[in-house]
Amino acid sequence: MSQRDHRRSEELAVQINNKLVEKLATSDQRFRQLVEGQPDVVFSCSPTGLIDYLSPVAERVFGRKPEDCIGGNLSDLLHKDSPLGTKDILSALEKGSSAEGLRFLLTARDGAPVWMMLQIAPSKSDSRIGSWHNVSDAVHGEKEMDALHNQLTASNNQLQIQSMGLAKRNELQALLVDISQNFVQHSSSDADTLIEEALARIGHYMGVDRGYVMILNHEEHSMSNTHEWCAEGTESHYGHFLSVSYDTFPWQMACLRSGSAIHVPCVADLPREASAEKQALQRSGVQSLIALPMLTQDKLQGYVAFESIHKECSWDVDIVDVLQLIGNMFHGARDRERVERLKSEFIASVSHELRTPLTSILGFSRTLSSKTDIKEDTRQEFVEIIHSQSVRLQALIESLLEISRIESGIHELQLGDLDLEELVTATCAQLAEKATAGNVTLTVHIEPDIAYATQLDAGRIRSVIENLAGNAIKFTPKNGEVKIGLSVQGSNFELTISDTGFGIPANDLDRIFERFYRIQRPGREIQGTGLGLAITREIVSLHGGSIQVESIVDKGSKFTVTLPRKR
Ligand code: ADP
Repeated sequence: MSQRDHRRSEELAVQINNKLVEKLATSDQRFRQLVEGQPDVVFSCSPTGLIDYLSPVAERVFGRKPEDCIGGNLSDLLHKDSPLGTKDILSALEKGSSAEGLRFLLTARDGAPVWMMLQIAPSKSDSRIGSWHNVSDAVHGEKEMDALHNQLTASNNQLQIQSMGLAKRNELQALLVDISQNFVQHSSSDADTLIEEALARIGHYMGVDRGYVMILNHEEHSMSNTHEWCAEGTESHYGHFLSVSYDTFPWQMACLRSGSAIHVPCVADLPREASAEKQALQRSGVQSLIALPMLTQDKLQGYVAFESIHKECSWDVDIVDVLQLIGNMFHGARDRERVERLKSEFIASVSHELRTPLTSILGFSRTLSSKTDIKEDTRQEFVEIIHSQSVRLQALIESLLEISRIESGIHELQLGDLDLEELVTATCAQLAEKATAGNVTLTVHIEPDIAYATQLDAGRIRSVIENLAGNAIKFTPKNGEVKIGLSVQGSNFELTISDTGFGIPANDLDRIFERFYRIQRPGREIQGTGLGLAITREIVSLHGGSIQVESIVDKGSKFTVTLPRKR
């Protein structure tokens, strides 16, 4: 080749090279335009993860400038919580497989994690080329959906549990309604049988082995088992728990007295203060227990208990709430039976009370009318008997009328100005004769220098004094004493009637104010109707006052009536 040709070919080679460089620059520019116009981060790295290219959009997507990352390793960009590590990403890039769904976490400049999805561009060179698509919004959306789904599932489960609980509660309520209807429909003298049947039905429903009732005896400070039901194969304890002292089970008594039900799903877990109860229950093999108080006016009268022996049982608060009704239902049934008994006793007592004076009135009046030769003083004596028996009859009829007025709600007071001192003195003077007849000393002490003028229903307050003082004389044996006191305590008048008589057993103290209630005192029966104190309490409360009693058997009783000084 000539020198000229050689130069020419060299020039041509330079021209071609320039053209190629130019083309390469153009293609590189196009590539960059293409890549940099992408919303996704395009990257390329070596097989070991050294980043050799990162598109500028990286700064917008996760806050890092490409020049800060190029030369560094892929692992520097990954977040610590990323589900994919550098190895996973590099191996996916090597395989060149389409890695749809390969999600990982990058660390943004501020350290926050940014969800990305890896997309891979097939490469024939050693470089691993791919793009990262920001999927943070999608991931957050999915997470929110997941959370919502979990929430929905949880509330659905909750609803299912609640509706199961509600169904159980309704079932139990229906059972109790049925049992209470039975109590109402059947004669109250069947109360014991009905209670035992009810224990069986509730026991079956609860899947327990034993149900029983314990009734307290406040006077003896003890309790006794009165009713029991046992599932088949369960040993009866009836008769084992008679007159058991309250102190035997102090923890249980304290809980029940506060009016709350005792729910023990696992006897072994009973607290240290319930060690006596725990021992007794474990001795009987009881695993779970529920005890429901029977209360009247917040006073514990007994309790109903259910025990599970063959397995542990736990009951929902809702179910325990419904079960609480049982205690009162059983107590109501026993109480109705008692009232019925008292009423029949009352009818017997009233008939007796009516018959006694009537018999003597009839007898003496017949004698007076049939015999003409009766001496004047005998005639006089007969007339007096007829008179006193008529007075007795009248008093009884008055009591009956007064109680029926109270029962029917017609009990308006006839208020008038009066001097309470005069009323007390006059009424006690009338009772003096009765006291003398019973050989009982009656004394009246009225606190001096006090204005006792007030407004009261004179007739009714007289009957209060007559009744309380009359009882005191009646229930005090010979040579005893009855003291009536009148004084002022703060804004009240205080009338006290104390005696040295029979006294009232603690168990009866709450009950003597009930209608028809009379204390049985075998061997020293004293006639009465059991109405006096009921009427008395009603009258006192109509006057805005109160009545209290304290008593010790065989020592005596003290009734205290307070009446407001100003109405
Ligand atoms: P009654 O006197 O007609 O029986 P009450 O209602 O007046 O009826 O009294 C109810 C019961 O209370 C009486 O049966 C009696 O046993 C008891 N009681 C009332 N006052 C006394 C008293 N001072 N001492 C002892 N017992 C009393």
